[in-house]
Amino acid sequence: MEFKKNDILTIDIEDMGHDGEGIGKADGYTLFVKDTVIGDRAEVKIMKAKKNYGYARLLKVLRPSPDRTEPRCPIARACGGCQLQFLSYEKQLEFKKKKVLGNLQRIGGFADIQAERVLGMEDPWRYRNKAQFPVGRNKEGEIVTGFYAGRTHSIVPNRDCLLGVKVNEEILNRILAYMETCHAEPYDEKTGIGLVRHILLRYGFKTGEIMVCLIINGTRIPAQDSLVEALKDIPGMTSISLNVNTKRNNVILGEKVIPLWGKEYITDYIGSIQYQISPLSFYQVNPVQTEKLYGTALEYAGLTGKETVWDLYCGIGTISLFLAQKAKQVYGVEIVPPAIEDARRNAKLNGITNAEFFVGKAEEVLPEKYEKEGIYADVIVVDPPRKGCDEAVLDTMLKMKPEKIVYVSCDSATLARDLKVLCQEEYRLEKVAVCDMFPQGVHVETVCLLSNRKSKPDTHVDLTLDMEDYYRIKDQEGRLLQDKRSGETVK
Ligand code: SAH
Repeated sequence: MEFKKNDILTIDIEDMGHDGEGIGKADGYTLFVKDTVIGDRAEVKIMKAKKNYGYARLLKVLRPSPDRTEPRCPIARACGGCQLQFLSYEKQLEFKKKKVLGNLQRIGGFADIQAERVLGMEDPWRYRNKAQFPVGRNKEGEIVTGFYAGRTHSIVPNRDCLLGVKVNEEILNRILAYMETCHAEPYDEKTGIGLVRHILLRYGFKTGEIMVCLIINGTRIPAQDSLVEALKDIPGMTSISLNVNTKRNNVILGEKVIPLWGKEYITDYIGSIQYQISPLSFYQVNPVQTEKLYGTALEYAGLTGKETVWDLYCGIGTISLFLAQKAKQVYGVEIVPPAIEDARRNAKLNGITNAEFFVGKAEEVLPEKYEKEGIYADVIVVDPPRKGCDEAVLDTMLKMKPEKIVYVSCDSATLARDLKVLCQEEYRLEKVAVCDMFPQGVHVETVCLLSNRKSKPDTHVDLTLDMEDYYRIKDQEGRLLQDKRSGETVK
């Protein structure tokens, strides 16, 4: 049977895709349906029909899955922020675990691997310490703030996102009232005219300190004192600033920060390590889970105080400083210079003297230091961006032969690809921990412990599947439907 755009049909959702969308079949024709979960029977409308598969919109749930739950947020469907609110939290964790293990099996060839632990949140709401609210006007001409609808830049009004802290709402109310009264114009992306682009809010979970930063298309705001007056008596207010971004692009923050009131940073802790966070600093958004994630990495590293540890892709040194508490010496490598400045400052702030940081690409710094200086490591920790480790990093790690490698990953597909290389001969995958840093969303973090094989038996099963299988969507007969890298349908 041929299906086409606007067709309305009933399907059973039988699977879930990588982005949390439900997958069902009608007469062998595969449909991807956002906002549905496994076990739903739903009435859907086809929005885009390709030859062998299509995308449909949920019209009505005819028979809800036992795993379906009522989203807490009233705008969960319209907002592009959360993908899994329709799924009970327990099932969200199961989905994430399956996603990680599935990739390790299919791409990495680790046939019997289990997750040693799945770290979920006791309360999977209001966990974010950072929020960036775009500002604009609605059709009625009122100033609004909220979140972008999925895949667009139209603002769905919402001042109380349930992933953020409660105080955000009061802060936004006061800023928008100031904007109305003092004629601080919202920025219009289409014309490039207007002043206030985004409102960045940060909150230190351990300290209660609050940061407000207005990102503006200019260098000044009208009636600056009125803004400060409106905000400074909110309990916890610590830092108020402006950030200048006059470029016409999608990047939220510009480079220049203009302090208006209070300190130029807020302070927060992960474990007992203190961090100073400025508007431009990278800092993990879920502090409760970050502590669990890094705690697991530290546990896996199994440090006794005698080890030399390399922390590659170290950012502001969060993991490095955590490790430095238990190691003899830690070396961090990171490509972004201001992050390394933060790392050095944070080391000093905590009186940590056994951590040294290098600016540069991991794939250049590590091989160079190894070839020229013959550096050594007992443990190497990597926490790369989504694209995973560069080959040169993997090669050098294999040459350096540390006793342990701890791989922290935000993309289990590239993790599996890299582990396959590392575990070909030299290493064995010992432990896998799955950590939910983003409840209600699809992303998941993984920590893996690899140990050098020397003394132990070989249990690694090498399948022939590889990354190609992740990128290529195939139909039941194995015909190629789509290649994720290009987004193109392949005939
Ligand atoms: N471990 C840190 C940050 C991890 S995010 C933390 O938890 O805070 C990944 C980091 O890798 C980012 O800071 C990014 O700037 C850095 N990065 C990206 N490509 C890199 C490369 N080729 N070499 C070194 N660092 C890189």
